[in-house]
Amino acid sequence: MNDDRARDDAPAKTPSPADEWQEATRTVHAGPRPSSQSGVINPPVYRASTIVYETVDAYMDRHKGLYDDVIYGLYGTKSTYALAEAIAELEHGAATVITSSGTSAIALTLSAFVGAGDHLLVADCIYGPARKFLSDILSGFGVEIEYFKPDIAGSIASLCRPNTKLIYMETPGSQTFDLIDIPAITEVARAKGILTAVDNTWATPLYFKPLRHGVDVSIASATKYLSGHSDCLLGSMTAANDEIYRQLKDVAARWGNCASPDDCYLVQRGLRTLDARLERHQRTASTLVNWFAQQPEVKAIRYPAFAEDPGHAIWKRDFTGATGLFGVQLDALSDEETRAFFNGLDIFQLGSSWGGFESLAVPAWPAPIRAFPNGEQDGALIRIHAGLEAAVDLIADLEAAFARVRALRRSS
Ligand SMILES: *Cc1c(COP(=O)(O)O)cnc(C)c1O
Repeated sequence: MNDDRARDDAPAKTPSPADEWQEATRTVHAGPRPSSQSGVINPPVYRASTIVYETVDAYMDRHKGLYDDVIYGLYGTKSTYALAEAIAELEHGAATVITSSGTSAIALTLSAFVGAGDHLLVADCIYGPARKFLSDILSGFGVEIEYFKPDIAGSIASLCRPNTKLIYMETPGSQTFDLIDIPAITEVARAKGILTAVDNTWATPLYFKPLRHGVDVSIASATKYLSGHSDCLLGSMTAANDEIYRQLKDVAARWGNCASPDDCYLVQRGLRTLDARLERHQRTASTLVNWFAQQPEVKAIRYPAFAEDPGHAIWKRDFTGATGLFGVQLDALSDEETRAFFNGLDIFQLGSSWGGFESLAVPAWPAPIRAFPNGEQDGALIRIHAGLEAAVDLIADLEAAFARVRALRRSS
Protein backbone atom coordinates (compact mmCIF):
# COMPACT_ATOMS: atom_id res chain seq x y z
CA MET A 1 0.00 0.00 0.00
CA ASN A 2 2.69 2.42 0.96
CA ASP A 3 5.22 1.65 -1.71
CA ASP A 4 4.67 4.62 -4.02
CA ARG A 5 8.32 5.42 -3.62
CA ALA A 6 9.27 2.03 -5.03
CA ARG A 7 6.66 2.40 -7.80
CA ASP A 8 7.94 5.84 -8.72
CA ASP A 9 11.49 5.19 -9.61
CA ALA A 10 12.21 1.47 -9.60
CA PRO A 11 10.57 -1.79 -10.65
CA ALA A 12 8.10 -3.11 -8.05
CA LYS A 13 9.60 -5.23 -5.23
CA THR A 14 13.06 -3.70 -5.47
CA PRO A 15 13.92 -2.73 -1.89
CA SER A 16 13.80 1.03 -1.62
CA PRO A 17 16.68 2.98 -0.04
CA ALA A 18 13.92 4.45 2.15
CA ASP A 19 13.70 1.13 3.98
CA GLU A 20 17.10 1.93 5.50
CA TRP A 21 16.39 5.52 6.44
CA GLN A 22 16.74 6.87 9.97
CA GLU A 23 13.48 8.04 11.52
CA ALA A 24 14.39 11.72 11.24
CA THR A 25 14.77 11.31 7.49
CA ARG A 26 11.58 9.30 7.24
CA THR A 27 9.47 11.96 8.98
CA VAL A 28 10.76 14.61 6.59
CA HIS A 29 10.05 12.54 3.45
CA ALA A 30 7.23 10.15 4.46
CA GLY A 31 4.30 9.92 2.05
CA PRO A 32 4.05 10.53 -1.70
CA ARG A 33 7.08 11.89 -3.46
CA PRO A 34 6.88 15.39 -4.97
CA SER A 35 7.28 13.85 -8.45
CA SER A 36 3.85 12.23 -8.06
CA GLN A 37 2.19 15.59 -7.35
CA SER A 38 3.59 18.09 -9.86
CA GLY A 39 6.69 18.69 -7.78
CA VAL A 40 4.74 20.06 -4.83
CA ILE A 41 6.57 19.17 -1.62
CA ASN A 42 3.60 18.62 0.67
CA PRO A 43 0.53 16.83 -0.73
CA PRO A 44 -1.92 19.58 -1.72
CA VAL A 45 -5.43 19.63 -0.25
CA TYR A 46 -7.82 17.60 -2.39
CA ARG A 47 -11.41 18.26 -1.38
CA ALA A 48 -13.97 15.89 -2.84
CA SER A 49 -17.29 14.24 -2.22
CA THR A 50 -18.75 13.37 -5.66
CA ILE A 51 -16.50 11.69 -8.19
CA VAL A 52 -17.67 11.55 -11.82
CA TYR A 53 -16.80 9.11 -14.61
CA GLU A 54 -16.50 9.44 -18.39
CA THR A 55 -18.23 6.22 -19.36
CA VAL A 56 -20.74 3.79 -17.94
CA ASP A 57 -18.04 1.09 -17.91
CA ALA A 58 -15.72 3.22 -15.80
CA TYR A 59 -18.64 4.00 -13.49
CA MET A 60 -19.60 0.32 -13.11
CA ASP A 61 -15.95 -0.61 -12.39
CA ARG A 62 -15.35 2.07 -9.80
CA HIS A 63 -15.40 -0.27 -6.80
CA LYS A 64 -12.37 -2.12 -8.15
CA GLY A 65 -10.39 0.81 -6.79
CA LEU A 66 -12.19 0.91 -3.44
CA TYR A 67 -9.78 2.28 -0.82
CA ASP A 68 -6.98 2.77 -3.39
CA ASP A 69 -8.51 5.15 -5.91
CA VAL A 70 -10.66 8.16 -5.12
CA ILE A 71 -14.22 6.90 -5.64
CA TYR A 72 -16.09 8.79 -2.93
CA GLY A 73 -14.87 11.47 -0.54
CA LEU A 74 -16.02 9.42 2.45
CA TYR A 75 -13.59 6.60 1.62
CA GLY A 76 -10.64 8.92 1.12
CA THR A 77 -9.20 11.58 -1.13
CA LYS A 78 -5.60 12.04 -2.23
CA SER A 79 -5.08 14.08 0.96
CA THR A 80 -6.20 11.25 3.25
CA TYR A 81 -4.27 8.61 1.31
CA ALA A 82 -1.10 10.72 1.38
CA LEU A 83 -1.21 11.09 5.16
CA ALA A 84 -2.16 7.43 5.59
CA GLU A 85 0.85 6.43 3.51
CA ALA A 86 3.16 8.61 5.60
CA ILE A 87 1.90 7.26 8.93
CA ALA A 88 2.04 3.65 7.69
CA GLU A 89 5.71 4.22 6.85
CA LEU A 90 6.44 5.57 10.32
CA GLU A 91 4.56 2.74 12.07
CA HIS A 92 6.12 0.11 9.77
CA GLY A 93 2.59 -1.12 9.10
CA ALA A 94 0.83 -2.55 6.04
CA ALA A 95 -1.51 0.44 5.73
CA THR A 96 -3.23 3.15 7.77
CA VAL A 97 -6.81 4.44 8.02
CA ILE A 98 -7.18 8.12 8.90
CA THR A 99 -10.21 8.96 11.07
CA SER A 100 -11.85 12.14 12.31
CA SER A 101 -10.21 12.00 15.79
CA GLY A 102 -8.19 9.78 18.09
CA THR A 103 -11.41 8.92 19.91
CA SER A 104 -13.04 7.69 16.69
CA ALA A 105 -9.95 5.62 15.85
CA ILE A 106 -10.35 3.85 19.20
CA ALA A 107 -14.12 3.38 18.84
CA LEU A 108 -13.78 2.06 15.27
CA THR A 109 -10.98 -0.37 16.13
CA LEU A 110 -13.03 -1.77 19.01
CA SER A 111 -16.19 -2.07 16.94
CA ALA A 112 -14.30 -3.71 14.06
CA PHE A 113 -13.24 -6.73 16.07
CA VAL A 114 -15.77 -7.39 18.86
CA GLY A 115 -19.52 -7.94 18.80
CA ALA A 116 -22.35 -9.57 20.74
CA GLY A 117 -21.19 -12.54 22.79
CA ASP A 118 -17.49 -11.66 22.52
CA HIS A 119 -15.13 -11.09 25.43
CA LEU A 120 -12.85 -8.04 25.37
CA LEU A 121 -9.80 -7.60 27.63
CA VAL A 122 -8.85 -3.99 28.38
CA ALA A 123 -5.86 -2.50 30.21
CA ASP A 124 -7.05 -0.50 33.23
CA CYS A 125 -5.02 2.59 32.29
CA ILE A 126 -6.80 3.59 29.07
CA TYR A 127 -7.86 7.08 28.07
CA GLY A 128 -11.03 8.16 29.95
CA PRO A 129 -13.31 8.73 26.92
CA ALA A 130 -12.30 5.27 25.56
CA ARG A 131 -13.58 3.84 28.82
CA LYS A 132 -16.84 5.69 28.34
CA PHE A 133 -17.18 4.26 24.83
CA LEU A 134 -16.88 0.79 26.37
CA SER A 135 -19.39 1.37 29.17
CA ASP A 136 -21.89 3.55 27.29
CA ILE A 137 -21.84 2.01 23.81
CA LEU A 138 -20.00 -1.29 23.40
CA SER A 139 -21.42 -3.02 26.48
CA GLY A 140 -24.91 -2.18 25.17
CA PHE A 141 -24.03 -4.16 22.04
CA GLY A 142 -23.56 -7.29 24.15
CA VAL A 143 -19.77 -7.28 24.47
CA GLU A 144 -18.38 -8.53 27.77
CA ILE A 145 -15.66 -6.15 28.93
CA GLU A 146 -13.01 -7.15 31.45
CA TYR A 147 -10.29 -4.81 32.75
CA PHE A 148 -6.86 -6.06 33.76
CA LYS A 149 -4.00 -4.47 35.72
CA PRO A 150 -1.44 -2.88 33.39
CA ASP A 151 1.42 -4.90 34.96
CA ILE A 152 -0.18 -8.25 34.07
CA ALA A 153 2.40 -9.29 31.38
CA GLY A 154 2.24 -12.98 30.42
CA SER A 155 -0.28 -13.77 33.19
CA ILE A 156 -2.92 -12.41 30.83
CA ALA A 157 -3.16 -16.02 29.62
CA SER A 158 -5.31 -16.84 32.67
CA LEU A 159 -7.91 -14.22 31.64
CA CYS A 160 -8.23 -15.37 28.03
CA ARG A 161 -11.37 -17.33 27.13
CA PRO A 162 -12.45 -19.13 23.98
CA ASN A 163 -14.57 -16.08 23.05
CA THR A 164 -11.87 -13.46 23.77
CA LYS A 165 -11.47 -11.57 20.48
CA LEU A 166 -9.34 -8.57 21.32
CA ILE A 167 -6.93 -7.21 23.91
CA TYR A 168 -7.02 -3.41 23.97
CA MET A 169 -4.17 -1.46 25.60
CA GLU A 170 -2.55 1.93 26.02
CA THR A 171 1.09 2.32 27.03
CA PRO A 172 2.08 4.38 28.91
CA GLY A 173 -1.46 4.73 30.26
CA SER A 174 -3.35 8.01 30.48
CA GLN A 175 -2.73 10.00 33.67
CA THR A 176 -0.96 7.18 35.56
CA PHE A 177 1.68 6.43 32.87
CA ASP A 178 1.69 2.67 33.56
CA LEU A 179 3.92 0.76 31.14
CA ILE A 180 2.58 -2.50 29.70
CA ASP A 181 4.81 -5.42 28.73
CA ILE A 182 3.49 -5.50 25.16
CA PRO A 183 5.76 -8.32 23.80
CA ALA A 184 4.74 -10.63 26.69
CA ILE A 185 1.07 -9.97 25.95
CA THR A 186 1.24 -10.28 22.17
CA GLU A 187 3.09 -13.59 22.54
CA VAL A 188 0.13 -15.00 24.49
CA ALA A 189 -2.43 -13.38 22.17
CA ARG A 190 -0.81 -14.69 18.97
CA ALA A 191 -0.65 -18.24 20.36
CA LYS A 192 -4.38 -18.07 21.12
CA GLY A 193 -5.45 -16.28 17.92
CA ILE A 194 -6.54 -13.12 19.79
CA LEU A 195 -6.03 -9.73 18.15
CA THR A 196 -4.28 -6.87 19.98
CA ALA A 197 -4.57 -3.09 19.63
CA VAL A 198 -2.49 -0.38 21.32
CA ASP A 199 -3.15 3.33 21.73
CA ASN A 200 0.35 4.66 20.93
CA THR A 201 -0.43 8.38 21.26
CA TRP A 202 2.12 9.20 23.97
CA ALA A 203 5.21 7.75 22.28
CA THR A 204 4.13 8.40 18.67
CA PRO A 205 5.39 5.92 16.05
CA LEU A 206 8.78 7.58 16.34
CA TYR A 207 9.52 6.33 19.84
CA PHE A 208 7.52 3.10 19.97
CA LYS A 209 6.52 0.74 17.17
CA PRO A 210 3.73 -1.51 18.44
CA LEU A 211 3.51 -3.52 15.20
CA ARG A 212 7.15 -4.53 15.57
CA HIS A 213 6.20 -6.01 18.95
CA GLY A 214 3.45 -8.24 17.59
CA VAL A 215 0.51 -5.82 17.88
CA ASP A 216 -2.16 -5.94 15.13
CA VAL A 217 -3.45 -2.35 15.26
CA SER A 218 -1.56 0.75 16.37
CA ILE A 219 -3.78 3.73 17.15
CA ALA A 220 -2.76 7.37 17.41
CA SER A 221 -4.54 10.56 18.23
CA ALA A 222 -2.89 12.63 15.50
CA THR A 223 -4.43 15.61 17.29
CA LYS A 224 -1.46 15.43 19.65
CA TYR A 225 2.18 15.32 18.52
CA LEU A 226 1.68 14.34 14.88
CA SER A 227 -0.21 17.59 14.31
CA GLY A 228 1.74 19.38 17.02
CA HIS A 229 0.01 22.74 16.73
CA SER A 230 -3.09 22.47 18.93
CA ASP A 231 -5.55 23.34 16.19
CA CYS A 232 -6.89 20.25 14.48
CA LEU A 233 -8.27 16.79 15.26
CA LEU A 234 -7.44 13.50 13.54
CA GLY A 235 -6.84 9.87 14.37
CA SER A 236 -5.07 6.95 12.77
CA MET A 237 -5.41 3.17 12.84
CA THR A 238 -2.41 1.35 11.37
CA ALA A 239 -2.82 -2.32 10.51
CA ALA A 240 -0.19 -5.04 10.65
CA ASN A 241 -1.56 -6.66 7.48
CA ASP A 242 -3.86 -5.95 4.54
CA GLU A 243 -6.74 -8.07 5.83
CA ILE A 244 -6.94 -6.07 9.07
CA TYR A 245 -6.58 -2.86 7.06
CA ARG A 246 -9.62 -3.75 4.95
CA GLN A 247 -11.66 -4.59 8.04
CA LEU A 248 -10.77 -1.22 9.59
CA LYS A 249 -11.48 0.60 6.36
CA ASP A 250 -14.87 -1.16 6.01
CA VAL A 251 -15.92 -0.34 9.57
CA ALA A 252 -14.93 3.32 9.15
CA ALA A 253 -17.00 3.48 5.94
CA ARG A 254 -20.02 1.75 7.55
CA TRP A 255 -19.96 4.23 10.45
CA GLY A 256 -19.53 7.07 7.99
CA ASN A 257 -16.29 8.23 9.56
CA CYS A 258 -13.89 10.26 7.46
CA ALA A 259 -11.18 12.87 7.92
CA SER A 260 -11.16 16.44 6.70
CA PRO A 261 -8.61 16.86 3.86
CA ASP A 262 -7.58 20.22 5.34
CA ASP A 263 -6.76 18.58 8.64
CA CYS A 264 -4.85 15.82 6.81
CA TYR A 265 -2.79 18.54 5.19
CA LEU A 266 -2.08 20.16 8.56
CA VAL A 267 -0.98 16.88 10.10
CA GLN A 268 1.23 16.06 7.11
CA ARG A 269 2.83 19.46 7.60
CA GLY A 270 3.24 18.78 11.31
CA LEU A 271 4.95 15.45 10.59
CA ARG A 272 7.82 17.20 8.85
CA THR A 273 9.05 18.65 12.13
CA LEU A 274 8.00 15.78 14.40
CA ASP A 275 11.47 14.43 15.04
CA ALA A 276 12.92 17.87 15.87
CA ARG A 277 9.94 18.80 18.07
CA LEU A 278 10.00 15.54 20.01
CA GLU A 279 13.70 15.87 20.69
CA ARG A 280 13.01 19.25 22.31
CA HIS A 281 9.87 18.10 24.18
CA GLN A 282 11.90 15.20 25.55
CA ARG A 283 14.85 17.32 26.62
CA THR A 284 12.66 19.89 28.39
CA ALA A 285 10.51 17.22 30.05
CA SER A 286 13.63 15.58 31.42
CA THR A 287 14.93 18.93 32.78
CA LEU A 288 11.57 19.61 34.46
CA VAL A 289 11.36 16.09 35.88
CA ASN A 290 14.78 16.46 37.49
CA TRP A 291 13.73 19.81 38.93
CA PHE A 292 10.44 18.42 40.32
CA ALA A 293 12.33 15.51 41.88
CA GLN A 294 14.15 18.00 44.12
CA GLN A 295 11.03 19.66 45.54
CA PRO A 296 10.18 18.39 49.05
CA GLU A 297 6.43 18.30 48.33
CA VAL A 298 6.88 15.84 45.44
CA LYS A 299 6.14 12.24 46.36
CA ALA A 300 6.60 10.55 43.00
CA ILE A 301 7.05 11.28 39.33
CA ARG A 302 5.50 9.23 36.58
CA TYR A 303 7.67 9.53 33.48
CA PRO A 304 8.90 6.31 31.93
CA ALA A 305 12.31 7.81 31.09
CA PHE A 306 12.85 8.74 34.77
CA ALA A 307 15.04 6.07 36.39
CA GLU A 308 12.76 5.75 39.43
CA ASP A 309 9.60 5.21 37.39
CA PRO A 310 8.22 1.68 37.91
CA GLY A 311 7.94 1.24 34.13
CA HIS A 312 11.49 2.40 33.40
CA ALA A 313 12.93 -1.05 32.56
CA ILE A 314 10.18 -1.82 30.03
CA TRP A 315 10.50 1.65 28.54
CA LYS A 316 14.24 1.23 28.14
CA ARG A 317 13.80 -2.14 26.48
CA ASP A 318 10.98 -1.27 24.04
CA PHE A 319 11.01 2.50 23.40
CA THR A 320 13.56 4.69 21.66
CA GLY A 321 12.58 7.95 23.35
CA ALA A 322 10.20 9.75 25.69
CA THR A 323 7.91 12.66 24.87
CA GLY A 324 6.86 15.73 26.87
CA LEU A 325 3.97 14.48 29.02
CA PHE A 326 4.42 13.32 32.62
CA GLY A 327 2.71 13.17 36.00
CA VAL A 328 3.88 14.63 39.30
CA GLN A 329 2.39 13.38 42.52
CA LEU A 330 2.37 15.78 45.45
CA ASP A 331 1.35 15.61 49.08
CA ALA A 332 -2.40 16.12 48.92
CA LEU A 333 -3.16 19.77 48.08
CA SER A 334 -6.15 21.52 49.61
CA ASP A 335 -8.59 23.15 47.19
CA GLU A 336 -7.11 26.52 48.08
CA GLU A 337 -3.57 25.29 47.43
CA THR A 338 -4.63 23.76 44.11
CA ARG A 339 -6.10 27.10 43.03
CA ALA A 340 -3.01 28.97 44.19
CA PHE A 341 -0.76 26.60 42.25
CA PHE A 342 -2.63 26.67 38.93
CA ASN A 343 -4.39 30.04 38.78
CA GLY A 344 -1.18 32.02 39.04
CA LEU A 345 0.70 30.16 36.30
CA ASP A 346 1.97 32.47 33.63
CA ILE A 347 3.51 30.35 30.84
CA PHE A 348 1.90 27.00 31.63
CA GLN A 349 -1.72 27.01 30.56
CA LEU A 350 -4.60 25.00 31.94
CA GLY A 351 -5.65 22.73 29.10
CA SER A 352 -5.99 19.02 28.55
CA SER A 353 -5.26 18.29 24.90
CA TRP A 354 -1.47 18.06 24.91
CA GLY A 355 1.09 17.46 22.16
CA GLY A 356 1.19 21.01 20.84
CA PHE A 357 4.04 23.50 21.05
CA GLU A 358 2.81 25.06 24.31
CA SER A 359 3.30 23.92 27.90
CA LEU A 360 0.27 22.79 29.88
CA ALA A 361 -0.41 21.94 33.51
CA VAL A 362 -3.63 20.44 34.84
CA PRO A 363 -4.71 18.73 38.05
CA ALA A 364 -5.75 15.10 37.45
CA TRP A 365 -7.73 12.55 39.47
CA PRO A 366 -7.17 9.10 37.98
CA ALA A 367 -8.73 7.03 40.81
CA PRO A 368 -12.40 7.36 39.71
CA ILE A 369 -11.58 6.03 36.24
CA ARG A 370 -9.76 2.91 37.37
CA ALA A 371 -11.08 -0.56 38.17
CA PHE A 372 -7.96 -1.14 40.31
CA PRO A 373 -7.16 2.25 41.88
CA ASN A 374 -3.66 2.39 43.25
CA GLY A 375 -3.45 3.99 46.71
CA GLU A 376 -0.44 6.12 45.87
CA GLN A 377 -2.45 7.89 43.19
CA ASP A 378 -4.97 9.30 45.65
CA GLY A 379 -3.07 12.52 46.38
CA ALA A 380 -2.87 15.45 44.01
CA LEU A 381 -1.58 14.55 40.59
CA ILE A 382 -0.33 17.32 38.36
CA ARG A 383 -0.09 16.49 34.70
CA ILE A 384 2.52 18.47 32.87
CA HIS A 385 3.09 18.84 29.16
CA ALA A 386 6.54 20.26 28.48
CA GLY A 387 6.17 22.48 25.42
CA LEU A 388 8.79 24.11 23.25
CA GLU A 389 9.46 27.16 25.45
CA ALA A 390 12.86 27.59 27.15
CA ALA A 391 13.13 25.29 30.17
CA VAL A 392 14.54 28.06 32.35
CA ASP A 393 11.36 30.14 31.91
CA LEU A 394 9.16 27.14 32.63
CA ILE A 395 11.07 26.43 35.84
CA ALA A 396 10.68 30.03 36.99
CA ASP A 397 6.92 29.69 36.47
CA LEU A 398 6.85 26.47 38.51
CA GLU A 399 9.07 27.94 41.23
CA ALA A 400 6.55 30.74 41.67
CA ALA A 401 3.71 28.19 41.84
CA PHE A 402 5.43 26.22 44.60
CA ALA A 403 6.19 29.48 46.42
CA ARG A 404 2.45 30.33 46.44
CA VAL A 405 1.59 26.93 47.93
CA ARG A 406 4.37 27.22 50.54
CA ALA A 407 3.21 30.69 51.55
CA LEU A 408 -0.31 29.35 52.13
CA ARG A 409 1.04 26.46 54.20
CA ARG A 410 3.12 28.79 56.36
CA SER A 411 0.15 31.08 57.01
CA SER A 412 -2.26 28.28 58.03
C1 LIG B 1 -6.18 12.73 23.31
C2 LIG B 1 -6.11 11.25 23.32
C3 LIG B 1 -7.00 10.48 22.60
C4 LIG B 1 -8.16 11.10 21.85
O1 LIG B 1 -7.78 11.82 20.76
P1 LIG B 1 -8.74 12.96 20.12
O2 LIG B 1 -8.08 13.21 18.83
O3 LIG B 1 -8.74 14.11 21.08
O4 LIG B 1 -10.10 12.35 19.99
C5 LIG B 1 -6.84 9.11 22.60
N1 LIG B 1 -5.87 8.53 23.33
C6 LIG B 1 -4.99 9.23 24.05
C7 LIG B 1 -3.95 8.52 24.81
C8 LIG B 1 -5.10 10.61 24.09
O5 LIG B 1 -4.24 11.31 24.84
